[in-house]
Amino acid sequence: MTLLDQPPLAPTELTRLEDLARDALATTHDVIIMQGEAILALEGVARSVGASGVVALNVVTGPYGAIFGDWMAQAGATVVTVASEFDSIVTVDAVAKAIAQHSPALLSIVHAEAATGGTNPVAQIAALARAAGIMTIVDAVASIGAEPVLVDEWGIDIAVIGGQKSLAGPAGVSAVSVSPRAWDAIDANPQAPRGSSLSLTDWRDNWTRTDRSFIPGMPAWLESRALTEALERALAEGLPAINDRHARASAATLAGAAALGLVPWQTSVGYAPVVTALRIPEPGALAGGDLGGIVSRGNGMLVGRLIRINHTGQAASLEAVQDALLRLAASLGVETDPAVRAAATAWNSPRGA
Ligand SMILES: *Cc1c(COP(=O)(O)O)cnc(C)c1O
Repeated sequence: MTLLDQPPLAPTELTRLEDLARDALATTHDVIIMQGEAILALEGVARSVGASGVVALNVVTGPYGAIFGDWMAQAGATVVTVASEFDSIVTVDAVAKAIAQHSPALLSIVHAEAATGGTNPVAQIAALARAAGIMTIVDAVASIGAEPVLVDEWGIDIAVIGGQKSLAGPAGVSAVSVSPRAWDAIDANPQAPRGSSLSLTDWRDNWTRTDRSFIPGMPAWLESRALTEALERALAEGLPAINDRHARASAATLAGAAALGLVPWQTSVGYAPVVTALRIPEPGALAGGDLGGIVSRGNGMLVGRLIRINHTGQAASLEAVQDALLRLAASLGVETDPAVRAAATAWNSPRGA
């Protein structure tokens, strides 16, 4: 299909996209397709739930969690932060203590951190929140596809996903699942975005809860069709199979990196299957040449401190990982064979060692 001369999105197409997103999230909740990259959906969610008088426990293990907390605070919420140094994930214990101390009404957390290669123990934390009656909001943009995201089983009230990471799809539209309890909380917030591109309730009231004969506005049809295709492809391969590729790619990268003498950026276990971050061993190391391929450098405060192996989406393959290891070995000026072999061994028994 060419990018040009396409008809606007039909109501049946939008409904189908929502159904696919619901399948990917393993939920029966409403799904709203937001018209922008996931960062817009996250802002819409933060401003919808961050009501004045609400105590929000925000877990910050990377840059996306930090900005989510800022938005909730701007919206009037009292935000309590549980933070890591961006080189470790949060512990269930730290969250349990913060819940006991602050009695929050909601808990927000990023599942996988693509920037730093960590995965927070969201299933356990969601169980804690559920037991305490706390609404949970999960940024699953980087985790969806790379590892299970089980919205109903884990009791997640709001989950945000996009197509651009492990689903190898587009970045321009995103999906948000919303539980009945989360809708109640948003409806109770007089400041929640309405008549706004950030509004979840506009979509619910003008589309989800209608006879669905007419889509309000002009949703992004290229991006919506691309996300539909990405989800169809992912569900055809099977999310467990895609999760498995990412787990193997992670294991292969960690093993190969160890053979090169490199250590993970994350100081504790909880390595994200979506991306592996490695510590730059000393200032100036790995600085030479253009590493390229799926190897990228840290952004912002992480410049010069870590490098990322983006074995994400279609790059969750042994070939892509081995290519990355060759680039790292060349930059370090060390032997390549042990790393390439270690990666293959780990790929074939990802949970072996
Ligand atoms: C990539 C990503 C997003 C989405 O960011 P965009 O700027 O919209 O691509 C959100 N959260 C996390 C954890 C991510 O990794």
